[in-house]
Order: sequence, then C-alpha cells, then structure tokens
Amino acid sequence: MKKTKLSIVIPCHNEASNIEPLYKEIYDTFKTRNEKIELVFINDGSKDTTLKELKNILTKKDFEIKVISFTRNFGKDAAMYAGLENATGDLVCIIDADLQQRPSLIVPMIEKLEESEEYDSVCYYQENRIESHFVTWLKSSFYKVMSKISDIEFVDGASDFRLFRRQVVDSILSLKESNRFSKGIFSWVGYNTCYLPYTPESRRYGKSSYSMGKLIVYALSGIISFSTLPLSIATVGGVVSAAICLLYILIVIFQKVFLTIDVPGYPTLLVTILLIGSLILCCLGIIGEYVARIYLETKKRPLYVEKEILTNKKETK
Ligand code: UDP
Ligand code: MG
Repeated sequence: MKKTKLSIVIPCHNEASNIEPLYKEIYDTFKTRNEKIELVFINDGSKDTTLKELKNILTKKDFEIKVISFTRNFGKDAAMYAGLENATGDLVCIIDADLQQRPSLIVPMIEKLEESEEYDSVCYYQENRIESHFVTWLKSSFYKVMSKISDIEFVDGASDFRLFRRQVVDSILSLKESNRFSKGIFSWVGYNTCYLPYTPESRRYGKSSYSMGKLIVYALSGIISFSTLPLSIATVGGVVSAAICLLYILIVIFQKVFLTIDVPGYPTLLVTILLIGSLILCCLGIIGEYVARIYLETKKRPLYVEKEILTNKKETK
C-alpha cells in the first residue's frame, strides 16, 4: 500500500532557539510511524539566527526538508500560505515553531482523518487558555461577534494548529486575496472539520510576535475581511441621525412660527454640528477601511517575496 505523505508547515519568525528542540520532538513522534514526512519551514524575515539553525536542520536526512526564506517579514498568514503552496503531502499540517503546540498532538489528528472519511480537516481549539481572564474574554467575544456578523462559523479558541486533506489545501490556495485572515479562510472554504480540544504549552524560547495592539488590529482586519456589517451600521447610523435632525428641524420651525425664541440656541447648535461632524467622520473612516482594502487588492501584489528555497534533496527548486 502507498505510504501517506504528511507535510508539516512551520512558520518561523525569530525562532532560533526553538528549531532544534522542535525538530527533535517531530523526529521522536514520527520515527516509528509509517507516514513519509516532509518538513516545510518558512523563515519569515527572522532577524536572529533562525536561518542558520534551519540550515543545520537541512543537513539531517531523516525526512524531506524544505526551507523557504522570505526577503523580509511578511506575517504569519503569508508564511502559512507559502508553506501550503510548497507542501506536496496528501495530508498537510500547520504547526507553530515555538512548541506551544506539541508535535505529538499531530498523531491524534491523523488518526481522526484515518478513522473517519467524513472529516476533511482537523483543528485544535484551546480548551484552557494560558492568558489572563480579560484576554480570554476579549478573544472569545471576538469569535462570538465574528460568527454573528459573518456567514461563516468561528469556533471559540480555534487555532491554526490544523491538519488538512490535499483537497482542502488546494481550496485554501485558490483564495488569492492579499489581506489574508487565515482563520476565516479555513472556515470559509467549508468542508467537514473535526474540532479537538488542547491546552497550549508556554512558549519554549523567545517571545510572541503578537502584542495586544497587534492582535486588536488583526481582529479588526478580520471583521472587515469577512463582514460588511460595519458599512450597514454606518448607513443605519446615518438614517437614524437624519431622522432625529428632521424632527429637530420641525421643532425649530414650530418655535419660530408659534413661539418667540429668546435665546439663539448656541449650545444646541454647537453640539449638533459637532455630533453630526463626528458621525460623518466615523462613517467616512469605516468606508475608508474598505476602500483601502479594495485599493490593496487591486494591486495584486504577491503575498510574499522569497529569497531562496533550500532543500536537503539533491535537486533544488
Ligand atoms: N510567525 C511568523 N511570522 C510573524 C509572526 C509569527 O511566521 O510575523 C510565526 C512564529 O514564528 C510562530 C507562529 O507564527 O511559529 C506563532 O507566532 P507567535 O508564537 O508569536 O504567536 P502566539 O502564539 O503568541 O499567538
Ligand atoms: Mg506562540
């Protein structure tokens, strides 16, 4: 029987100290298993010695290994895309390089797909978060809001630690948008996904690339990528404020015709102008966010620029 080929995609941004321990854990997990393994590392513009570590790994002959180096940091979504593009396996897994997601957990995902034809992908969701209560609340509220305002289902805590069948990978790759919100894209392509719980470990070495500020910008960009609700809110807000203004105009006309107005109404005027002005700016800002994305999409820039692809096979791409 033909051996299943499993590609493991590993985005790396300043992960020098994690590369060797990660390789060791992958080796320990798969040395006795039957799958043919391909490792696809993406060096996403690391400023430390990640590339050097990856070149060391390339000297090993246990598995097929590819290292794709970007010319600068293009972000995890671009790195995952490059990894999926270069993966040749029947099954493709995405895993972080920092050992927060243990390579041994890939096995239950493979078993899930083997035992059940109905599933096309498997995704780990965080059952217990290691962050503060506030961050946990913020993240799970985001998933709830996203599920409500977009057409797709966002499972609370769903990670990028996933395993796909080849067909799912091809579908994900067919979405070429440059503003990539991968979690949304993974759900958008559909297919049957099995969700398994896991508890992430602490980062082995180094620090996370995602500060709170970056996460909020990423979350807002996710909302804009997958929902047009903010535009509808702007429209409804405009209609409601126009109705209130109309009512107020009627009151002013009534006062002018039937009553004598002693005070010219300066504070009311000022408040109204400021309020309407800021509402207009707010709506323009929302529209601007969408226009900016249309602008960026029309440029059709590639998602990443690669400097080199190295492999441990004789022939290189
Ligand atoms: N990563 C990347 N490019 C980036 C940021 C992160 O390839 O611009 C990789 C990083 O090396 C790691 C994974 O994406 O393998 C998750 O990143 P990180 O651990 O910083 O995020 P967190 O686990 O805190 O969400
Ligand atoms: Mg991490």
